[in-house]
Amino acid sequence: MEKTAKSVWNNCLEFINDNVEDAVFNTWFKPIIPIKLTKSDLTIQVPSKFFYEWLEEHYVGVLRSAISKTLGEEAKLRYDVVMAYDYDNKKANIITIPSTKRTKPVQQQTLNMPNSQMGEINGVVNPFALPGLRRVKVDSQLNPNYSFDNFVVGESNRLAKSAGYAVSKNPGGTAFNPLFLFGGVGLGKTHLSHSIGIEVKERYPEKTVLYVSAEKFTQQFTEASRKNNRNDFINFYQMIDVLIIDDVQFFSTKKGTQDVFFQIFNHLHQIGKQLILTSDKAPVDMQGFENRLLSRFKWGLSAEINSADYNTRVEIIKTRNDKDGTVMPEEVVEFLASNITTNVRELEGALISLLAHASFSDEGLSIELARKVIKKFVKNTTKEISIDYIQKVVCDYFSMDMDVLQSKSRKRNVVQARQLAMFFAKRFTKASLASIGTQIGKRDHATVLHACKTVGNLSETDRNFKIYVEELDKKLSSMN
Ligand code: ADP
Ligand code: MG
Repeated sequence: MEKTAKSVWNNCLEFINDNVEDAVFNTWFKPIIPIKLTKSDLTIQVPSKFFYEWLEEHYVGVLRSAISKTLGEEAKLRYDVVMAYDYDNKKANIITIPSTKRTKPVQQQTLNMPNSQMGEINGVVNPFALPGLRRVKVDSQLNPNYSFDNFVVGESNRLAKSAGYAVSKNPGGTAFNPLFLFGGVGLGKTHLSHSIGIEVKERYPEKTVLYVSAEKFTQQFTEASRKNNRNDFINFYQMIDVLIIDDVQFFSTKKGTQDVFFQIFNHLHQIGKQLILTSDKAPVDMQGFENRLLSRFKWGLSAEINSADYNTRVEIIKTRNDKDGTVMPEEVVEFLASNITTNVRELEGALISLLAHASFSDEGLSIELARKVIKKFVKNTTKEISIDYIQKVVCDYFSMDMDVLQSKSRKRNVVQARQLAMFFAKRFTKASLASIGTQIGKRDHATVLHACKTVGNLSETDRNFKIYVEELDKKLSSMN
């Protein structure tokens, strides 16, 4: 039977469906329309430029695998990208863009490359060589979409952004070394760390900048150890001027990697090179780390990124829309910003879902459509309980005023209520010990840590106390 764009795409979908989660499949692959097949060139239509970029960034691996499985290794992929929807003429402007990415995910190329193909700089093996070039530069691994221009600043990230910007103007030359950026998932740590790298490259093109996830660093190190290339690995990293390591919490309990990173860190720091680290927790809250490493994390500046407030969320949606050329009614923007409060990544996900639905229906971007789409979205995301809410529940339970709970009182019942609030805040939120302490009676992180231990101990030894814990746990869990 002759292959058509549709039959090929259906085959691809089957493969993709087996390889990604349902939510991903529904959001990112279902809205795609197969358009055209010539020889082994497949053209698919996607609802927006952002959608296209997202696919290329996150799912190009599975997409390419699916296509080469169905059409062979030579297969090419093109996207018809629906640009702005023209509401007057009820039709979309479409441009065609070829897939730019290589067939194999970058990671495989850099990690599985045999030694002889690895580029060398001054005789040093370079795991980030661009394949095919002999005298190579380090590929910075920076994503141009994650620039300062696209980064919206609000109360939640002002300090982190300012510090990052200062560092990019004068890498290695400020007191912010290392710059340690921390905060919950989807709040912009990766984006900000790329922005710094991009800005450095613009101001100082001769400087060697490298972005690497802690996970990839770990894999490379394991690989290097296996091949007895440990020294090459260290030498390579010691040549970098600005080293960005994302999600360093990944190093937790990995002693070998921590040791080698310690060595690289010391060398770079000593000769005035810049380190930028990100983590999902503050250094004081990190577990499974050697003290000497933790203490170095604190040498420079630790800057927290918090959840974006309403105004920042509005600004983020607007920036995104400008970039994609989307015209969105103000009320829809406000609706999204007030309903998706968890993190920026979810906000973007909701936005894309909405755009996808809008461009494939005649409804346009109406508030009704937004309601429909977002309803599904919000239901699927688990709400995080706030520390405020926890304090209220605890106060209600003990019939205590919030002021009393937050006071300096050392009365036993007050202390216990406060400790319980801290314990549950640790359990039910992603807030750091320090931030829990600040919000519950202006205490420090050590007090919170002590509270968590005490609650644990007491519930083992004191029956009444155990009942408090269980009942409060029930009340709070039913919120989730
Ligand atoms: P993290 O690394 O903290 O988990 P990311 O940096 O990956 O978060 O951010 C998630 C998504 O949200 C990215 O697409 C990013 O571009 C976007 N984002 C986060 N913060 C901002 C911001 N302040 N302005 C614009 N986009 C943001
Ligand atoms: Mg990240």
